[in-house]
Amino acid sequence: MNKQLIESETSVVVVGASLAGLMTGIALANAGLNVTIVERAGAERRSGAGLQVNNGERDISTTAKYLRKITSGGSSSVEAWSSIEARLRREAQTNPQIDLRFNTRIQAVHQNDEAAWVITDKGEKFSGDMLIGADGYRSTVRRHVAPDHPDATFAGYLIWVAMVDEQNIPKQYRPGPNPGLAMPNGNGDFLLGFVVAGADGSCTVGQRRLGWAWYDNTQNDLLRQLGCVKGNVVQHSLTGADIPTETLANLSKKAKQRWSQPWLAAIEHSIQTRNLVATPIVEYVPEVLVQGRIALVGDAAHVPNPLTASGFNASLEDAATLTDCFIKENDVTEALLQYQSRRLKQVRQIVQSGQSFSRSFGR
Ligand SMILES: Cc1cc2nc3c(=O)[nH]c(=O)nc-3n(C[C@H](O)[C@H](O)[C@H](O)COP(=O)(O)OP(=O)(O)OC[C@H]3O[C@@H](n4cnc5c(N)ncnc54)[C@H](O)[C@@H]3O)c2cc1C
Repeated sequence: MNKQLIESETSVVVVGASLAGLMTGIALANAGLNVTIVERAGAERRSGAGLQVNNGERDISTTAKYLRKITSGGSSSVEAWSSIEARLRREAQTNPQIDLRFNTRIQAVHQNDEAAWVITDKGEKFSGDMLIGADGYRSTVRRHVAPDHPDATFAGYLIWVAMVDEQNIPKQYRPGPNPGLAMPNGNGDFLLGFVVAGADGSCTVGQRRLGWAWYDNTQNDLLRQLGCVKGNVVQHSLTGADIPTETLANLSKKAKQRWSQPWLAAIEHSIQTRNLVATPIVEYVPEVLVQGRIALVGDAAHVPNPLTASGFNASLEDAATLTDCFIKENDVTEALLQYQSRRLKQVRQIVQSGQSFSRSFGR
C-alpha cells in the first residue's frame, strides 16, 4: 500500500489493540498519521475461536484490500482469531508511525476545540488531534460519544466457544482436507463447527485445530447468578475455571444427545479440560458514531449477532472508510462527520438484520 498518502502532522490515539483497533491504527498510519494505540491487556498472546474474512469482492478502496490481505493471510477459509491478531500485531509493531502500548487502561475521555485525550488508571495522559474508540462492546469511549445510549444489551443467550487441537480427536472422526463450515442439526440448538490451521500454520490432517460455537439459551439464570449479566448489561464472559462442575456435566449430557462426530469429540475434550468460554451475546444498534474529534469503530460502534458473521468485516470497513475520509479531507471534524455519514446507516442495518434471530432464540 502507498505510504504517506496525505501530508499530515495529524496525530491520533486509538483505544483498544484488538482487531478493530489494530486495523484502524495500521490504516491511518499508512495514510501518514502519527498513531498511538493503547491497550489495557498485556502483550501476551490471547485466544479466541474463528472468524471468516470476507473475500472483499465489493471493496473499492485500496485500504480495505490491503487490510483483507494482511488479515486473511491469503486464505479464503475460516481463520483462527489468534492468527489474525498475530498478523495485525506484527504489522503494527513494525510500522514506525505506530506507538503500541500494552497494559494501558483508559478511564476517562475528554476533548476541546483543539484536541482529544484520554487519562489512564495510572493518571497518564495520551492526547491527539483525534481519538478513536476501538474498545469493544463495553466501550468506555462510547460513554462520551453516545452518553444517552452507552450500553450494548444482552440478547438472551450465550455461545460456548472453544478450539481443540486435532490430535485430541480420535483418528476415525477427523475431517478430510478442505472440510468447510459445518452446521449440524441439534434439536433446535445451533452449532457451528470449523477446521482451521494448527498453531504452527499446518493444514495437514491431524495437525489442524477444530473450533466449535454452540448457541445456548438455557443458561441465563446461571449468567445472572455468577454476575456475568446484570440487568440488561453484560459484565464479562465465563471462562473454563469458573464454570460450575454441574453445568459442565449437563452440557456433556446434552452434547451426546445432540451432536455428531467430530464435533461431539471436540466438545467433550473441551469440557474435560475446561478449555471453553461461555460468551453472553450482546447487540448494539448505534445512533451516532462520532462526537467532535472522537469516533467509534468495531464492536464499540456496533455489535451485530455473531450469526450475521459480520462483526469483524464491518470493523475492517470502518477502518478503511475512516482512512479514506482522511485521505480526502484534512480537517479532522469534517473527516469524522463524513465517516459517520458513510457508515451509520449501513452498520445499523447489519445489526438490525440479526435481531430477528435473537428475538426468536433469546429468552
Ligand atoms: C480475546 C478475544 C477473542 C475473540 N474471539 C473471537 C472469536 O473467536 N470469534 C469471533 O467472531 N469474535 C471474537 N472476538 C470478537 C471479535 O474480535 C470482534 O467482534 C471484532 O473483531 C471486532 O472487535 P473489536 O476490536 O472492535 O473489539 P474487541 O475484540 O472486543 O477488542 C476491544 C479491545 O479493547 C480493549 N479495551 C477495552 N476497554 C479498554 C480500556 N478501557 N482501555 C484500553 N483498552 C481497552 C480490550 O482489551 C480489547 O483488546 C474476540 C475478541 C477478543 C478480545
